[in-house]
Amino acid sequence: MHEWALAESIILTITEKAKSENKNVIDSVEIVVGELQGIDIEVFEFALNELRNLAKEENNVIIKNFRIVEEKASFRCNRCGYVWRLDDTSLSAEARESIHFIPEAAHGFIQCPKCGSHDFEIVSGRGVYIRL
Ligand SMILES: [Zn+2]
Repeated sequence: MHEWALAESIILTITEKAKSENKNVIDSVEIVVGELQGIDIEVFEFALNELRNLAKEENNVIIKNFRIVEEKASFRCNRCGYVWRLDDTSLSAEARESIHFIPEAAHGFIQCPKCGSHDFEIVSGRGVYIRL
């Protein structure tokens, strides 16, 4: 998907935060990536490593370590309250791909394994966030 664009905006966010706190060394950054984002972790990590050189050259911000954590997707049924994970559902490759592009597409492809309802919440596994 958009590993490079995502890596770029993460580097930018870290750089801005470092500057606003007058820091120029960031020891470790934890990046949590939701399973539904469909990020290729290997490509993403490579992009981060390449781009952090830019942070150093352009802004004199040194980022020492990245830790990428994948957050598993989970869902909660609004009808019966049942909670389940993406791994518990059997999805075609095509459905998985659609969900990776548009997490809301999950509602079309996934239903509560217990009561069959399509009315559920995505509890986790969306989006990307960082912890410094
Ligand atoms: Zn249900």
